[in-house]
Amino acid sequence: MNAPHATAALMTGDDYRESLRRLNPTVYVDGRLIDSIADAPALQPGINAIALTYDFAHRPEYAPLMTAVQHTSGRRVNRMTHIDTGSGDLLNKLEAVRLICHETGCAQRYLTHDALNAIAQVSARLDDAAGSSAHTERFTEYLHRVQDQDLTLGVAMTDAKGDRSRRPHQQANVDSYVHVVERNAVHNGQRGIVISGTKAIVTGAPYVHELLVMPCRAMGREDAEFAVCCAVPLDAPGLTIVARPAGRPGEKLEHGDALFSRRYGQSTGVCIFDRVFVPEDRVFYDGSGGSWEHSSHLTYSYATHHRHSCIGARAGFGDLLIGAGALMCEANGFDPGQETHLREQMVELITITESFFACGVAASVYAKADPHCAVFMPEPVFANIGKLLLATKIYDMHRIAHYVSGGLIVTLPGPDEDHNPETAGRLADLLRANPDVPYEQRIETARFIEDLTAGYQGGWYSTISLHGGGSPAAMKQEIWRHYPVGSKVELVERLLERGIAGDGSAAAAPHDPARAITRNRQPGRCCDAGCAPPGQPVMVDLPAPGRAPR
Ligand SMILES: Cc1cc2nc3c(=O)[nH]c(=O)nc-3n(C[C@H](O)[C@H](O)[C@H](O)COP(=O)(O)OP(=O)(O)OC[C@H]3O[C@@H](n4cnc5c(N)ncnc54)[C@H](O)[C@@H]3O)c2cc1C
Repeated sequence: MNAPHATAALMTGDDYRESLRRLNPTVYVDGRLIDSIADAPALQPGINAIALTYDFAHRPEYAPLMTAVQHTSGRRVNRMTHIDTGSGDLLNKLEAVRLICHETGCAQRYLTHDALNAIAQVSARLDDAAGSSAHTERFTEYLHRVQDQDLTLGVAMTDAKGDRSRRPHQQANVDSYVHVVERNAVHNGQRGIVISGTKAIVTGAPYVHELLVMPCRAMGREDAEFAVCCAVPLDAPGLTIVARPAGRPGEKLEHGDALFSRRYGQSTGVCIFDRVFVPEDRVFYDGSGGSWEHSSHLTYSYATHHRHSCIGARAGFGDLLIGAGALMCEANGFDPGQETHLREQMVELITITESFFACGVAASVYAKADPHCAVFMPEPVFANIGKLLLATKIYDMHRIAHYVSGGLIVTLPGPDEDHNPETAGRLADLLRANPDVPYEQRIETARFIEDLTAGYQGGWYSTISLHGGGSPAAMKQEIWRHYPVGSKVELVERLLERGIAGDGSAAAAPHDPARAITRNRQPGRCCDAGCAPPGQPVMVDLPAPGRAPR
């Protein structure tokens, strides 16, 4: 083990770009093969966003939040590759994700964190089931490499899925799901497996170092070949990525309306695996030996971590809308503190943002250690409620931004008009509102809000909020599955003095395991392992500038 708190080789944003130049993946964007992913204009907004997660780890004011000490190595690593071992870690991750997402809209790299934590948990479960330590050792070695090289990993979980009403083995096209086509394969003297199939939606796919392939659903025995979890380098032979541009690169670069998304955005890629060899030290499980049974726990663990991270990400987006909404009110000549109906809208926007963020805080505080390992899991009811709130309230967030702004955000003349000597000066006079706010600033704020809420990127933020990390039905299922309805039923029955029936007979037994409505009972929120001792800080104590501004 290294000396405590030795720092892994943390890359800068430029180092990250340079590391991409060393990869030679097969990536198509808009029908064209990309020569160098690091230099492709179509991918720059996505690369910029991930690069910021590297640069912020080096900024003294953010380093305490953006880095953490890995408990298995003692080394300080980027928080986006860190394994959480306490509520403080989860709170810090939540704040870190909010910080990097209010700078970039969506910094993407938190998916790396979410998947690593989930795979750590499932590795421990596989070991406990097998009475071994092999899975954890393999994963830990991989984890340390990722942390020490400061890699970014994409999450290749959502399969193409084919007909949604059928299970993987029932699909007409076997490549609708990624699956093992060969076990005990040997390639260049290494043993491993061969996989084929399609992952349909992978964030940042063209510009990450490796992909973590994970099953997207619980698998049955017949689906054992589809239960595969492994790591694949981006330029592995047989892997083709078909992606769309990140954000709106190059749009009106000088004074454009894509003010934000020309700088920061996210590409997603379809990842087609065609007989890709994966060496066994990169295979976390492959469905054999009953390991398929662990897919449900992997998807549950990943989804819980990821929904918790999504809360931080969308709170960062909320920060952008709150700031822009207030600026727009001011540019229009109003102080929302004085104008009641505008204040109500702004307060609603703040309430939405901070209520789902508060769910993330609660999920961190009530988190517990996985009984099989040191990983701390966000409390699933709060994590799912927070994600469900942001998934549905995103549309209200956009509505409020439109309400306080007025129609100008979609009707302003285009940016080329700003340079038209015939009209620019007159427009600047005629379209000015608050005499204290220059016209250029008013239209800049309007275009910023258009970009985030009313253009292509606005639709993108809605859709990622609704479906990213799982569609609302998945969250509702989890909330019902984990919420202790049974305890509430027992409470009311106790208050109604049921069970001490007037005729002396016993009423329905509350603890009867066959009684569906009392099955979910309060597990006990607080425990020795789940909370910091009284008076102990659970988060790093950041100087004021490091806090995500509210
Ligand atoms: C911007 C963005 C980024 C993403 N990034 C990633 C990523 O990095 N990695 C990754 O793995 N995934 C990623 N996802 C995928 C995301 O997890 C999925 O979009 C989500 O799980 C829904 O799957 P789907 O899009 O295939 O929709 P579908 O599964 O087709 O769902 C459409 C509708 O049908 C319903 N439905 C689907 N199946 C059933 C069923 N069997 N029974 C009843 N109803 C059903 C759903 O509830 C939903 O309402 C991303 C998604 C978005 C939008």
